Amino acid sequence: MRIGMGYDVHRLVVGRPLVLGGVTIPFEKGLLGHSDADVLVHATCDALLGAAGLDDIGVHFPDTDAHFKDIYSIELLRRTAHMVLERGFALINMDATVFAQSPKIAPYRDAMRQAMAEALQITADRINIKATTTEDLGPIGAGEGMAAMCVVLLGAGAV
Ligand code: MG
Repeated sequence: MRIGMGYDVHRLVVGRPLVLGGVTIPFEKGLLGHSDADVLVHATCDALLGAAGLDDIGVHFPDTDAHFKDIYSIELLRRTAHMVLERGFALINMDATVFAQSPKIAPYRDAMRQAMAEALQITADRINIKATTTEDLGPIGAGEGMAAMCVVLLGAGAV
């Protein structure tokens, strides 16, 4: 078995849709980035790549590549899962935390798990998504951005 962790941060700005875990959430701001800036999916990609020994998301999907401009990050997750599966690994489970002062994530959690499960070719019961505020502390608490952490466990072959 192999473990991997991922961490990501994106700035929140007006005039962008908020996409988290592949789900578009109604909110006054959205995450800024070259792709859709889905901070949860990016942290998950990095956790998977880390566990498989495949460097990081910036190596495979560089933000200097116009091909990835505004791309739906679930597509990056799909490609990442394909790379991991090709190496003979299977995802046993993943656990993630989103750091956001608002909006509330809970109403969208099941939809996120479904969207990510489909991209990862696993059942949603292997995916756990948590969310926390930072108690109004720091830039995340001030609503200037969001962060996400993810831990994954990979096994060899089908599990
Ligand atoms: Mg990112």
